Amino acid sequence: MSAKSAAPVATPAPSTNGHHASANPFLDMLARFNQAADILNLGERERKILSVPEKIHFCNLPVTMDDGSTQVFEGYRVIHSTALGPSKGGIRYAMAVDQNEVMALAAWMTWKCGAVGIPYGGGKGGIKCNPRAMSEGELERMTRAYTDAMIDVFGPDLDIPAPDMGTGGREMAWIVSQFSRLMGGKYIPAMITGKPLEMGGSKGRVEATGRSVMTTTIAALKKLGMNPNNCTAAVQGFGNVGSNAAKLYSQQGIKVVAISDQTGAYYNAGGILIHQAIAYAQKNGNMLEGFDGADKISNDELLELNVDILAPCAIENVITKDNAGKIKAKLISEGANGPTAADADAILEDKNILVIPDIVANAGGVTCSYFEWVQNRRGHYYTENEVNERVDQIINQAFEEAYQAKEHHKVSMRLGAYLVGVNRVATGLRLRGKY
Ligand code: NAD
Repeated sequence: MSAKSAAPVATPAPSTNGHHASANPFLDMLARFNQAADILNLGERERKILSVPEKIHFCNLPVTMDDGSTQVFEGYRVIHSTALGPSKGGIRYAMAVDQNEVMALAAWMTWKCGAVGIPYGGGKGGIKCNPRAMSEGELERMTRAYTDAMIDVFGPDLDIPAPDMGTGGREMAWIVSQFSRLMGGKYIPAMITGKPLEMGGSKGRVEATGRSVMTTTIAALKKLGMNPNNCTAAVQGFGNVGSNAAKLYSQQGIKVVAISDQTGAYYNAGGILIHQAIAYAQKNGNMLEGFDGADKISNDELLELNVDILAPCAIENVITKDNAGKIKAKLISEGANGPTAADADAILEDKNILVIPDIVANAGGVTCSYFEWVQNRRGHYYTENEVNERVDQIINQAFEEAYQAKEHHKVSMRLGAYLVGVNRVATGLRLRGKY
């Protein structure tokens, strides 16, 4: 089976499944892009090209399940832009995966790489599945089938995937091994990032996204004149991003009073011992259900807690016009992609809440991925300190550029980051010329 390209959709029909049943994240993305394009006075050509993805690949993946039955899974890979380089972006395994979601996530990768200034375009992939309900063997067969389908899409100079929700080093290892097998056995580690260390992964990659949530939070607290040691935080999501953000927050002296995952939220006014929560989740199928170091509250309550810092690190559209008015945090660091719906932006601004947008706050992941790709290509590997220093420097600079754009144009920091990102991408597009 081979991947096929469908026609790009300019204004896609709203998604109807999952947690964001009433919202279409691609339209949320477009709303912010258009605001930035207006301020930048972007030409009609750039605006038209960047409002739609370059390519949409769709495949149906037949997988033999452990009981001998066959199940067919929907797989996507969307390339939003290659104006600044090969497309880069994760692969998500979740039931809410659909074309609109993958299109939005791909575009966010474009603006993120632009905002951070690394030489990549934006792409994203996903398979509509519930990975928790599948065995390791079923997941491996599905992942290898997806790699087969995307064999002409992926490549170190074409499109470079990485982990996202529901995937990690294990899936990256299957993909690079399948890809290399299909390439006649030549090992091509730079075709994917987020690999296990033993397969050419980078030191620091697992923590990198949570780390940029932390470094941007510290930079923002400085701007606000707040001392981390006097701050409390609530972190939504306890997967790769959320658990590392919570751990690094507490290492910086920030008291994490609430954490959560899909089983609910856990609150302890005295502070949660994050290493205990991580150890508990690891033993409990990566879930916090039953964690007794805190009282159980709902995910909605977590968002509205009286804390200084809120870090949504789970899914899209959890902060909406319905709850934005009730948020008490002074600072929001968006570890997740798209956790704030576009219609909540103005409410948060009116409340004077500083929002470090996703395309800066969680950009440590793709920045570290860039250095993984560089190391694979050079065949020379950095120490963890070297990687962290390089990534921190780029993230701090991206934070400062977005913050300066916010001050200069008197806009939100989100719009400031979009101005930096969209401007770089549009410039790349113009330099490539027309045909
Ligand atoms: P993950 O699969 O490791 O963890 C996701 C977490 O969110 C889990 O704890 C899950 O239980 C929780 N969750 C799911 N639905 C929830 C809900 N309705 N309410 C509360 N919690 C819920 O995924 P991840 O890699 O940590 O990614 C999380 C977010 O960060 C995603 O938006 C992803 O796109 C973004 N992100 C990830 C990376 C990365 O390097 N992994 C990089 C940039 C951005």
